[in-house]
Amino acid sequence: MNIHEYQGKEILRKYGVAVPNGKVAFSPDEAVKVAKEIGGNVTVVKAQIHAGGRGKAGGVKIAKNLDEVRSYAKELLGKILVTHQTGPEGKEVKRLYIEEGSDIQKEYYLSYVLDRATSRVTLMGSEEGGMDIEEVAEQTPEKIFKEVIDPVVGLTPFQARRMAFNMNIPTKLINKAANLMLGLYKAFIDKDASIVEINPLVVTGDDQVMALDAKFNFDSNALYRQKDILELRDFDEEDAKEIEASKYDLSYISLDGNIGCMVNGAGLAMATMDTISYYGGSPANFLDVGGGATAEKVTEAFKIILSDEKVKGIFVNIFGGIMKCDIIAEGVIQAAKEVGLSVPLVVRLEGTNVERGKQLLNESGLNIIAADSMADGAQKIVGLVG
Ligand code: ADP
Ligand code: MG
Repeated sequence: MNIHEYQGKEILRKYGVAVPNGKVAFSPDEAVKVAKEIGGNVTVVKAQIHAGGRGKAGGVKIAKNLDEVRSYAKELLGKILVTHQTGPEGKEVKRLYIEEGSDIQKEYYLSYVLDRATSRVTLMGSEEGGMDIEEVAEQTPEKIFKEVIDPVVGLTPFQARRMAFNMNIPTKLINKAANLMLGLYKAFIDKDASIVEINPLVVTGDDQVMALDAKFNFDSNALYRQKDILELRDFDEEDAKEIEASKYDLSYISLDGNIGCMVNGAGLAMATMDTISYYGGSPANFLDVGGGATAEKVTEAFKIILSDEKVKGIFVNIFGGIMKCDIIAEGVIQAAKEVGLSVPLVVRLEGTNVERGKQLLNESGLNIIAADSMADGAQKIVGLVG
């Protein structure tokens, strides 16, 4: 789960990580009010969307007076911001963060990520922070330093100072930077984050070490014990179909292709997507209806696939073990009845109650193309969507 920059900075404050003064605003009037409260000569108006790259896309504006704050707020609210992280469709700006302008001497990069190769939380830092970090990673990876963290010991002060030295933080600010890293590590662990990225971390003219941006990503499997984080969820930023799916406890992820997939078991779902790709097609989603799904759950899953305008054909690939083929058939028939089926449907059923399932589908009057195997089904659906 992602949160907004302003919410991330709220968390940082609680962990003693310095951030500029600021507050969220939902309208130009509110933006001006907040700017007045903050005071100072320079105010930054920042679009709040769940994507980075806002600076380069015109989503971060430097205002020199209240009139400029108002006009930037007007300009940004309601705007579709297209950054290198949003995809071509962009994201609509519905919230702004109004923040005190910072006297930046230098921009650095700092993040904690879970390195799945070593199964360790890893601290990464670089003196080449700011808006071109992707290029640094590609062209001069030696400028990005790492500290692998022992999960029992945690980040040690020694490691934090070594990172600060490697990043070429000015000597007199090494301890400040190291303390910030320790606070940030505590936030990362306490909140079950999977990513915390501060880009840029800055050193200011008055010798402060501050987080100017904050990107948090949380492990959704831990949200049951992170109630305060769950409250920060912004449904506007999420895929409507994924929200719907989560209500029914379905593992569903939207993808870019045009073949809707309904499969049971994550492994089979992955294999199905691979097979579709192998035959030249492209899946519109990952969907695992799970083991003990009811007909109602299958109906909802099928409806979600049908509601996706990208979907030009559907491939149902079920291996009935705990899941029974007749339950799947009932769900498919029910959903098709409720919302209509206007795209080709290829079904491959195997396993428990397969005969009953096939019989139900045959008698349903639905236009279903039966497949004998996974490869056969994938080939058929790819052929049908063209
Ligand atoms: P993004 O990563 O989405 O582009 P950032 O929050 O990193 O957004 O902002 C982009 C750039 O805007 C920063 O690298 C920094 O140079 C500038 N900036 C952001 N916030 C402030 C601020 N409070 N004061 C001065 N400059 C800022
Ligand atoms: Mg940034």
